[in-house]
Amino acid sequence: MSSTQIGVLAVQGDVREHLAALAGSGADGRPVRRPGELEDLDGLVIPGGESTTIDRLCRIFGLHEPIRALIASGLPVYGSCAGMIQLADEILDGHPEQQSFGGIDMTVRRNAFGRQVDSFEVDLAVTGLADPDRPFPAVFIRAPWVERLGESVEVLARVEGHPVAVRQGTLLATSFHPEVTGDHRLHALFVEQAAAYRR
Ligand code: GLN
Repeated sequence: MSSTQIGVLAVQGDVREHLAALAGSGADGRPVRRPGELEDLDGLVIPGGESTTIDRLCRIFGLHEPIRALIASGLPVYGSCAGMIQLADEILDGHPEQQSFGGIDMTVRRNAFGRQVDSFEVDLAVTGLADPDRPFPAVFIRAPWVERLGESVEVLARVEGHPVAVRQGTLLATSFHPEVTGDHRLHALFVEQAAAYRR
């Protein structure tokens, strides 16, 4: 059997880092720049970067609607930082024209941690990871936090009371950037979810 096929939305952001983390998790990652490249995926990653730019370019390149449709169809999608913002049903402090893909019943505030400190790293306990006694090195860069969560959203980790890793069905989102740490356990969790979807 061939390995799990994961697309990484590649209009802006830290695409290369996600591709490396996916390779490190045994998946076949490939960049997605046009709608045709969304075919036959077992999962999709929306990288960290600048959510307003990712949104604008996705609408220009005709990716916005197909990605919304894939989310609605149940495709596993993982968003880190800007990707988390784009998976939220509601964004606070977004650009006035910004549209998210939505999918996770939550409200996130852009740059919320960033108002306090631009970037920081903490050792986090994250539910569901392999080797659970080993904390996850979580890197936050102008990160969003979650201000409202629907009942069907599961919180996997918190910082100072704010949810920073959440899951709703096949959708996973983190305020932080596991792709820059070399610790691939979060990507491995997502790849497992995508492999289960494929079966
Ligand atoms: N602040 C960025 C945004 O609003 C997210 C930052 C990041 O992805 N590191 O999109």
